[in-house]
Amino acid sequence: MFDDIIKQRLEKEKPYLLRKKLTCPMCLGEFRGLGTKTGRIRRVGADIDLRPINEPVDALKYSINVCSNCGYHGLGKTFKPLSQGVRGLLKRAQLPKPDISGIEEKEYYTYNEALEMCRVALEFANARQADASEKAYLELTMAWLDRGRVNELESIAKEDYENKKKDGDEEAKDPTPLIDAIKAQASGQEKAHLKAARDGFTEAMAKEMPPFVGMDTSTLDFLIAVLSYEVEDYSMALIICSRILTNKGSSSRLKDKARDLKDLVREAKGDEEE
Ligand SMILES: [Zn+2]
Repeated sequence: MFDDIIKQRLEKEKPYLLRKKLTCPMCLGEFRGLGTKTGRIRRVGADIDLRPINEPVDALKYSINVCSNCGYHGLGKTFKPLSQGVRGLLKRAQLPKPDISGIEEKEYYTYNEALEMCRVALEFANARQADASEKAYLELTMAWLDRGRVNELESIAKEDYENKKKDGDEEAKDPTPLIDAIKAQASGQEKAHLKAARDGFTEAMAKEMPPFVGMDTSTLDFLIAVLSYEVEDYSMALIICSRILTNKGSSSRLKDKARDLKDLVREAKGDEEE
């Protein structure tokens, strides 16, 4: 669906991407991974669950590094050499070697490719008994990618419709029903990832010390509240918001965010009760 328009858009990402020299944490060999030119990507906002919104390329698609020698997949944020013990765990796990044919020739990644890379990275993370926070971050990245994929399809469906109308195509159909169907289908998948992320971060909070994949304790606490709201666990969201609001150590900025979230939860609960 819309393959041509997707390809056109991906071609435009090329000037913002580069090959960077990386060392594989697993085989310790060097390879050239695909990433974004950080200086040329602008952050224009964030969703309530901290999903960064970047232009002109969604840098989230380039979150995972894939070793072209051994097939290891890992989150760029935590891409460091593994200890011998952990490498031993991975060897003993005997994961099937991922299909990495042509990975070095790829000029850009689609959302579907990025989602598959995250899924494989999670398999590696499980096999090497990675921290709960890192696995939760992979789940969260998958939820963000699900959202990015749907947003892209929505904007493409609208562009396609406008183009057809301009060309006088009388059979051009309003894309709203199609977009609604795509959203309904994708939302279950996104929610499953959000729920897994919420549960994993909750476990991390109990077992690990900060930073949690770069986040401090109050940022993670608030994120768990937001994720609880997103998976409709409203009582948990409210408990955490109250805790943030009564904690003398919370910054006023965080308290404002907790108040806003509380309003959103009440609104959602109200809708549910109607
Ligand atoms: Zn490797």
